[in-house]
Amino acid sequence: MACSQANNIQKNYWRKLIELAEPQPPQRERFFLTMSCMHCKEPPCRDVCPTTATYQRSDGIIVIDYEKCIGCGYCIVACPYHAREIFNGEVDFEAGHRSCEQKHFGQDEAKDHGGVCTKCNFCLPRVERGLSQELTPGEDDEATPMCVASCSCSALYFGDLDDPQSKVAQLLKENKSMQLSEDLGTAPSVYYIL
Ligand code: SF4
Repeated sequence: MACSQANNIQKNYWRKLIELAEPQPPQRERFFLTMSCMHCKEPPCRDVCPTTATYQRSDGIIVIDYEKCIGCGYCIVACPYHAREIFNGEVDFEAGHRSCEQKHFGQDEAKDHGGVCTKCNFCLPRVERGLSQELTPGEDDEATPMCVASCSCSALYFGDLDDPQSKVAQLLKENKSMQLSEDLGTAPSVYYIL
């Protein structure tokens, strides 16, 4: 819900909640998995994009330039995590729907961008705004993706894995973790602590 609101997505497809197993008596536990774009280090979505609309920033975040996206859908087929969808509804671009350059679409311009592909961008405008205010993503809520900042169980973490002192680097060092479909060679940047 936080993702939908922060990014003005009417249908929550940037972040999915999957129930993996129904509880069987006498077991009462239910098991959920949350999934969004894995911001792969070797992203097949980028490699198949014919217009270079999908690209990788130097910090590893995978973004889509809506000015270049032609909505061909190759990236949707290439992504093994089902993280992308063509935005076919009424286009209502707001903060999260801007490209990383933070182009500000007016309503008329926005209508021209209907049919582009969209996905989780780690709340990039929020992260960049925080960085410009010298905040630290992952430590300061205002500079952290909304799903992480709003998680009532503190089950989600965000940060710089290249910084060995960061909370995320420490958590991965101290805990057993996994990446989804590691064998595909996509090298996801999202880890699940076991
Ligand atoms: Fe691309 Fe899918 Fe990896 Fe995200 S999860 S970077 S959309 S291949």
